[in-house]
Amino acid sequence: MIHGAFRSFRLAKWLGSTCASLDIASNGLMAVDWTGRSSKVLATGMPKPPQLNRWLGISCLTLTLPSGQLRAIGWGIKRADDLWREVLREWYGSRVLAIADTLDAFLKRVRACHYCRRSQWTSLHADLIEQSKHWPALPPRGLGVLSAAERKILIRAWSWVQNGERCLRRWRSHYVKLSLVEHAELFDTIESMPLTLNQRLACIVDEDNNLVLAGAGTGKTSTTMGRVAFLVRSGQAQPEDILLLAYGKDAAEEMRERLEARVGIKGIKASTFHSLGKDMLGQPSLTPMADDDAARKRFAQVAFEDLQTDPDYRKRLLQYFESYLFPIKNPFDFASLGEYFVYLAEHEVRTLKGERVKSMAECRIANFLFKMGVEYQYEPRYKVSTRTAKRRDYHPDFYLPAFELYIEHFGTDRQGNTAPYIDRKAYHQAIAWKRALHKQHQTRLIETFHFEQQEGQLLPLLEKRLAEAGVTFNPLPDEAMLETLREFGVVTEFAELLEKLLTGYKAADLAKVDLEARINAAPFPDQMRAALELLMPIYKRYQDDLEGKDQIDFDDMIVKAVRLAEQGGFNAPWRFVLVDEYQDISEPRARLVKALRRSQPDGSLFCVGDDWQSIYRFAGSDIRLTSQFETFFGATAISALDKTFRFNDRINAVASRFVMRNPAQLKKDIHTHTLEDSPAVSLFRTELDDDEVLPHVLTRISARAKPGSVVYILARFNFLLPDKARLKQLSDSYPGLTIKTYSIHTSKGQEADYIVVLGNKAGKFGLPPQKASHPLLETLLPPRETFAHAEERRLFYVALTRAKRRVYLVVSKGKASSFIKELLDEKYDVELNEFGALVVVPEPGPACPACEAGELMLRIRKNGKESFYFCSLSPRCKHTETACPDCQSLMRREGRYLICSKDCGGWVALCPVSGGRMMQRGTDKPFWGCTDYRNGQEGSCGHMEKSIAPPKGCRGRTRVQ
Ligand SMILES: [Zn+2]
Ligand SMILES: [Zn+2]
Ligand SMILES: [Zn+2]
Repeated sequence: MIHGAFRSFRLAKWLGSTCASLDIASNGLMAVDWTGRSSKVLATGMPKPPQLNRWLGISCLTLTLPSGQLRAIGWGIKRADDLWREVLREWYGSRVLAIADTLDAFLKRVRACHYCRRSQWTSLHADLIEQSKHWPALPPRGLGVLSAAERKILIRAWSWVQNGERCLRRWRSHYVKLSLVEHAELFDTIESMPLTLNQRLACIVDEDNNLVLAGAGTGKTSTTMGRVAFLVRSGQAQPEDILLLAYGKDAAEEMRERLEARVGIKGIKASTFHSLGKDMLGQPSLTPMADDDAARKRFAQVAFEDLQTDPDYRKRLLQYFESYLFPIKNPFDFASLGEYFVYLAEHEVRTLKGERVKSMAECRIANFLFKMGVEYQYEPRYKVSTRTAKRRDYHPDFYLPAFELYIEHFGTDRQGNTAPYIDRKAYHQAIAWKRALHKQHQTRLIETFHFEQQEGQLLPLLEKRLAEAGVTFNPLPDEAMLETLREFGVVTEFAELLEKLLTGYKAADLAKVDLEARINAAPFPDQMRAALELLMPIYKRYQDDLEGKDQIDFDDMIVKAVRLAEQGGFNAPWRFVLVDEYQDISEPRARLVKALRRSQPDGSLFCVGDDWQSIYRFAGSDIRLTSQFETFFGATAISALDKTFRFNDRINAVASRFVMRNPAQLKKDIHTHTLEDSPAVSLFRTELDDDEVLPHVLTRISARAKPGSVVYILARFNFLLPDKARLKQLSDSYPGLTIKTYSIHTSKGQEADYIVVLGNKAGKFGLPPQKASHPLLETLLPPRETFAHAEERRLFYVALTRAKRRVYLVVSKGKASSFIKELLDEKYDVELNEFGALVVVPEPGPACPACEAGELMLRIRKNGKESFYFCSLSPRCKHTETACPDCQSLMRREGRYLICSKDCGGWVALCPVSGGRMMQRGTDKPFWGCTDYRNGQEGSCGHMEKSIAPPKGCRGRTRVQ
């Protein structure tokens, strides 16, 4: 307590002092002005705290009142200081009381929000910040004007204002802990096994949007059930507030029933997207095709066939087959010949007659000849053999037998440049050699050039040159041409594409403008437009059919439901929306979910899925809706269920590592309940074919498995699986096993003790399939990911993770897929020798030196015929190499010999005339003859030698091969 007043000195008046003295009396703070009038001053009413300044032994005390400032300036320090503190203490005291009330009210609101979602928090916190604008800052501790309790209140209040995020986190973690304890029994008993901590957390955490990443077998259904039960039990929701969306009717129904049976919760709405759409639109009349893919396909098929009788459509269709069957790329734009060949193979560049040509220009030339009714041979041997030790036989591109005319297409531009991967000089030498050869043998040659193709003149010029050479054309009538194409299967294949396009077009919900823009931005717009023009009449018939019957299909229904919800035409009664198998969601469905959630201001969204198992792009599912969840929906809490109860650690080691090779997959660290002490993924690589393989694998499984074990046989494509009869046979032979077959896609969501995956081969129907899809289809579907084979990689992951105990990966006769190659090359935790002698030990094929992209593959021939290596890109790449006759290794050339590169002693001598191999012939009088010897035929090589010494370090050959 202070005693005595603080007085201004006289001159202070001129220094701005308005107050002669200030004093604290029993009834409060009193100020006396220069006229001697005293008045009471209320500290609580001051908008600003009192201020004390000092200089040279003079103190200046300023009080800000609503009416203006009071200032006393006087000698001395102690008195002014005491007075100042006293006023300050009083000034703070009243304010801290008010702040305490504000904070209490605020915290009450936070608590009422339970987890306190971002949207709730944002508005609560904004209010608090608004109020805090009138709060004083925390006074320095040394002033001692606040009691410890007051200080604490002020610190706490400011901390909620200034470190809001940290406080929110602290609150949430407190809330979560509390809920864990309070609802422990519920989480312990809702399923036969108590929920894991992560599962419980996923039930409790309630951001505006919640994404639960649930690895395969991590109990996502249990978690969803736990979530519903928690919301109801904790009083946050009535059952009627909850909507549970699932993909399958059964999944939705099962979840609802289990909730009723296990926790007695009745009245939640469990629905599929389709039945929700129906409800929203008041039970619209659906086309029978909605539920029946085959019926829709049939419709498209019939429409397509019917349209082919329309001359206009037929013309456009033929134009398409001639010019747009595959996307035309400039051959100069590839990095290597092999890359070009891979492109041709993946786009299945074939002539209309089915020849696998080795360039796009050749394809167009062949199709032109075909259309013009000119008979041709593709790459026949030139009429005179030109084979020498250094040169293969000459095969011109085309030969027209009726006119004895050859055609060569040369890959040079106007300046004579070749594609970057072709040796320009050698190429020109070859051109000169060919021209000279034709001259020498007086054969007629017509030439076309790369630049003519680039300038759009290839076919007109070819036609002109052919006409000049006396070729008569006999163009096939459109109908005849189409008939031939039907025979070759081209039409059927295109019909299948049209069905996929129709599905994609419908699922994409594209405004016309959007599609135009996408087509313009994409490569190959011409090809896309040509396909779209053929699709639209079919689409129109389909829509007309629906409209005529006053029906809609599922795609229309979802789109309509989205519009209705987005425009506020549907009042969704659900505050909590839960979505199962979220990774399969398509953009229209995600928009529907978003609109539903928005229609209730205090609602939250809970999506459970696994981005590692997103495998339905072809049906419109868009993985970006998972990987960029928050961008689409707003504030999101992501949690992960990472303990799997299905498979063991050894399967996990392979599957998780494999799927995470794609850096775009969300990172998860999956733990397994079961541990194994040896690899649980077994690779069986064999020369047997798929059908012969199965008994071997099933015998192995029978030996290991408990009776009644379930075995799934999986494949990328249905037709690779054993058919019904074969399955029955197998089941009868292994009565202890329950054997089922599935495509990998349909196996999703299921599990078996043992999994056998067939078809792990390279090629069009491999896993991954090496086949490019149509650019228009690509444009209609959600964008393809940048990582190569991203979705197929996930599909392989799905296959692996169906197994509880063991996976058998079968690679039967043929080239192993790139996925299998990766498992081997990168030494995944895979068992390689389970099948003993039946196993073919895979040896990585050396790269093809000719095209650089292919790989050399051994073809073993028996009965004394030479084994050789051929390029995996054959027939386009024609490179071959002789294999060592003794050990079948590659060979190196030394002088006239080929010598085993492994130096096993094997060797081959080459003919100095034709380059053929020299072989010992004759039994009485052995001699060496050339393999190019063909009795009396043209191009035969009659070179003979009495004896040939073995090359240095190699043994002689005595035996006749
Ligand atoms: Zn090659
Ligand atoms: Zn050898
Ligand atoms: Zn020869």
